[in-house]
Amino acid sequence: MRALAALERRSDAKGAKRVLRLEIGQPGFATPARVCDAAVRAIEGGETKYAAPSGAPRLREAVAEYLVRTRGVAYEAENVVVGPGAKPGLFLPTLACCDPGDEVVYPDPGFPTYAAMCAAAGATPRPVPLRSDGASFDMAALEASVNEKTKMIVINSPGNPTGGVMPREDVAAVARLAKKFNCWVMSDEIYSRLIYDDEEEGGENDEKIFSICALDGMKERTILVDGFSKTYCMTGWRLGWVACPKHLAEKIKLLTVHSVGCVAAFTQIAGVEALTGPQDSVKAMRDEYRVRRDFVVDALNDIPGISCPVPKGAFYAFPSFDFPDVTAQELADYLLEDARVALLPGTDFGAAGERHLRLSYVGELSDLREAMARIKTSLAKRF
Ligand code: PLP
Repeated sequence: MRALAALERRSDAKGAKRVLRLEIGQPGFATPARVCDAAVRAIEGGETKYAAPSGAPRLREAVAEYLVRTRGVAYEAENVVVGPGAKPGLFLPTLACCDPGDEVVYPDPGFPTYAAMCAAAGATPRPVPLRSDGASFDMAALEASVNEKTKMIVINSPGNPTGGVMPREDVAAVARLAKKFNCWVMSDEIYSRLIYDDEEEGGENDEKIFSICALDGMKERTILVDGFSKTYCMTGWRLGWVACPKHLAEKIKLLTVHSVGCVAAFTQIAGVEALTGPQDSVKAMRDEYRVRRDFVVDALNDIPGISCPVPKGAFYAFPSFDFPDVTAQELADYLLEDARVALLPGTDFGAAGERHLRLSYVGELSDLREAMARIKTSLAKRF
């Protein structure tokens, strides 16, 4: 994104077209007012000191209750470790569980932190390609990649960057593999409240979320990662959690003590409000994103040379392109320069993203309309 910074500097020139930012996964809505108010009240009430390293007891309890409510699985406060965002929930358990020589299986394309956390733990990365609609692993490739050395299988449904939602039978197959080879499943559920199409999967009006932890024998081997960034538009607050067996939670706590220390106490109180207060903002946001998704996917499929499956969740589109002699990075650079639209090359998410671009549709519909029109014009000019 150095190119973006340079372009934005040059764009300061009068009359330059504004760069439309479709590259980041930052919700376009404000944090609900009730959550902000709770934080302000907490600061004014003196909640500004160190908090407990695993998280404030009130928040750990609220998370456990939320997990019971949404996943239907009996979690308790002692299963939960709160951290500054969901990212530590990925990183710290990997450090706690994996040694050099252990293998970690994760989706390709996938969230870049999965490769980084393997590198930090000295574990061997085993990226497994997704099938062409981006919804799930290529299951034959997954079966071929999991073996006695596998310490952890990472799943991410709905997923970044494809927006894919794994079919239940594939989740069940992952559970079978994890039990057969006695390994952990890290289930990154940060987009779990953003499923658009399938009411059964937890979309629409209810809060029910299908999670691998609910399958027989899986709670004991699931590292469930979730947080507030996407569901409650709280990316900058840095608040998330991991839920796992208590013995692992203790290890993650130790890593927290000596790394981040704790999360700000007033932020955690805002988190309690987010989970326990009225949830209507979540549905309103999801309804709006669904409209944006439908617009963006139709507009992309209307561009010659571009093809985009309908993502069932999250807030990303992951179109493929069919243009000769151009890499994903070159295409993203060209669109930034010519259309002044920022998006990401699929290769930022792994080698399997090479014929793809990723764009997020969190922005206003008017900006998305403008972006799609600019992309179409620029591509028609060059290809
Ligand atoms: N997991 C996935 C798949 C994500 O896309 C993100 C953020 O974009 C995260 C985890 C990290 O979330 P947080 O901002 O809460 O650390």
